[in-house]
Amino acid sequence: MPPRLLGPAEIRALAADLDVRPTKTLGQNFVHDANTVRRIVSSSGVGADDVVLEVGPGLGSLTLALLGAAGRVVAVEIDPKLAARLPQTIGDYAPDQVDAFDVVTADALTVEPADLPVAPTALVANLPYNVAVPVLLNLMAKFPTLRTALVMVQAEVADRLAATPGGRIYGVPSVKARYYGDVSRAGSIGKHVFWPEPKIESGLVRIERTDRFGLDPEHRRLTFAAIDAAFAQRRKTMRSALATWAGSPARAEELLRAADIDPQIRGERLAVDDFVRLAESAASAAR
Ligand code: SAM
Repeated sequence: MPPRLLGPAEIRALAADLDVRPTKTLGQNFVHDANTVRRIVSSSGVGADDVVLEVGPGLGSLTLALLGAAGRVVAVEIDPKLAARLPQTIGDYAPDQVDAFDVVTADALTVEPADLPVAPTALVANLPYNVAVPVLLNLMAKFPTLRTALVMVQAEVADRLAATPGGRIYGVPSVKARYYGDVSRAGSIGKHVFWPEPKIESGLVRIERTDRFGLDPEHRRLTFAAIDAAFAQRRKTMRSALATWAGSPARAEELLRAADIDPQIRGERLAVDDFVRLAESAASAAR
């Protein structure tokens, strides 16, 4: 039997039963609309072969829909009260899928592969909004088995993640997300599907992992340091913005030229490939 999904009445009943008072600090806005969770699952493309990592399962709305499509769901929830209740909710609403579900009480900002019972293949989550980008980047870094990610975040953050070079909203999250793979917007979600209703609209973002630049953590660290330096002073030319990172403006110019980048360009016009070449030229110059 497929799982039953949670609607407004079920969410209200679960919240009352648990005496949940949603907190803004933990980004606790729960989806109470079955069509929305169905849509998220269908956009994620997960199937019976997938082990889904869900961050922030909350009361279980998205979890139940995921259990209807994926082979297994491992959820990471920071709130112990919510995490403790989930197995019962899954038992009540998805009795046939109980064995395919695990919940780990942990912070998604620090969770490690060893904390999970199995390696996940796909991330699908309605992320807590105040830590959405660090959580997403942390999980892509720590869990190379994740082939895809489909996350719901604030619409503005979704736009920033999916932005391409040259625009005003292109920035650190846009470049770093592309280090892992292809990034695209996958739709918008209105406020009315949440309880409590947030002030802002939400958006879906997809990452298809390509790992074009490999999996070496040191390579990633060097590349991300160059990205952070370039965008810390985004109105400056790369020569000036990278002066501290490189040691001096002249040294920055040398490294930029070695990476075939115009020293007078601004970071907001550069693609992730440019930052990778820059970090590689800095690393080989240091050898
Ligand atoms: N998935 C549920 C839904 O769609 O209804 C809830 C989503 S709600 C936007 C975010 C969830 O993330 C909450 O359950 C919250 O307790 C949890 N959360 C917040 N910060 C977290 C963190 N650092 N690590 C893991 N879970 C977190």
